[in-house]
Amino acid sequence: MEEKAKALDQSDELASFRSQFHFPQTHGKDCIYLCGNSLGLQPKLTENFVNEELKNWQERGVKGHFTGEKPWVSYHLNSKKSLAKLVGGTEDEVVAMNNLTTNLHLGLSSFYRPEGKRNKILIERGAFPSDFYAVHSSVVLSGNDPNECLIELNPQDGSDYLPTDEIVGKIHELGEELELVMFPGVQYYTGQFFNIKRITEAAHGVGAKAGFDLAHTVGNIPLTLHDDRVDFAVWCSYKYLNSGPGGTGGFFVHSENARNTELPKQSGWWGHKADGRFKMNNEINPIPTADGWQLSNINILSHSAHLASLEVFDQADIHTLRKKSIKLTGFLEELISGSSILDEHVKMITPKSPEERGAQLSLYLTKLGKPVFEKIVENGVILDWREPNVIRVAPVPLYNSFTDVWQFVRIMERAIESVAAS
Ligand SMILES: *Cc1c(COP(=O)(O)O)cnc(C)c1O
Repeated sequence: MEEKAKALDQSDELASFRSQFHFPQTHGKDCIYLCGNSLGLQPKLTENFVNEELKNWQERGVKGHFTGEKPWVSYHLNSKKSLAKLVGGTEDEVVAMNNLTTNLHLGLSSFYRPEGKRNKILIERGAFPSDFYAVHSSVVLSGNDPNECLIELNPQDGSDYLPTDEIVGKIHELGEELELVMFPGVQYYTGQFFNIKRITEAAHGVGAKAGFDLAHTVGNIPLTLHDDRVDFAVWCSYKYLNSGPGGTGGFFVHSENARNTELPKQSGWWGHKADGRFKMNNEINPIPTADGWQLSNINILSHSAHLASLEVFDQADIHTLRKKSIKLTGFLEELISGSSILDEHVKMITPKSPEERGAQLSLYLTKLGKPVFEKIVENGVILDWREPNVIRVAPVPLYNSFTDVWQFVRIMERAIESVAAS
């Protein structure tokens, strides 16, 4: 299998991208980094982009807002083209701003607007806590009771997998009581990729709206949010998008919603038309695009790191990345299922079908616990542990190799052997 890994690396057209990233070191050499679903690695380009803005600030002071190659007043426009490609929207439908949870609240303010008995919001059981808190507090803020209005969908058979038919069935069951479906693209814990198009269609079919959290999806799986008629979506840029810890988040709103200036939203000066912005006269003139949801002038240093990373994505192309990703994650799965020791100790909770997952496999340890994870880390692998007993492994097509995956599986086998023997 080592030979196979080498051969796959040799025929990998994206292999050269690996050298464009900084790898953390363990025991004096590059670690095997399988944690891009939590924090992506730093592109070497990032330093130049951030330094450029530090220099602009040094040399121009406040004049940097209106001068230089990328004036700060319109700096957020620079990421639109790349983001539009990643999520399958138009440039008017996307904007980089704030952080994920803030953007989620902004989306909820506009798209969870309960009236009468149409007051329910549907999420998946086991949603990421920040998302749960956001929807829960939105229900409370609207004066409704979360016990009644916040519906968490549990897989019927007690497994971790939620079939699309069950989701659609629940949407139909809630019918005219449903105001919003708020689902992930890829679920952070199980790695399941949901069918965005069918969920959205079902929501619209009962007169509800559909929003998605794409934290684990953007930069991982190509998306078609415009054609799928998704109402809004949010994401962060520090996972697969490699834009640095706490990096600028993203927001999508469908053009049909954005053009509707009657749609209420939380509002700030940056969401109002640029030509009147500095007249300081409180005229209400919202921008009829995703930019209308902007509150503040954007964080230039953070956004500069974002632009560096997006440039790498433009070079690699998300569709080419996805092709490699399917092979790379498939190879990981093949190695796991071909290993008798892993087969004995690990239950994969991520769907087997490539259409229903991205770059992440979630491995549930059935017999041993966290010491296995610690042993793996000791041996030069960076990856992620989630309670109660799950190791999340994310081979990222931009900078991981097939050899990385092969080495990881060997290290995990030895870790299990050594913990089982102790
Ligand atoms: C990573 C992640 C977050 C993090 O939210 P921040 O606002 O960026 O801190 C929220 N939700 C999901 C589903 C995530 O995966």
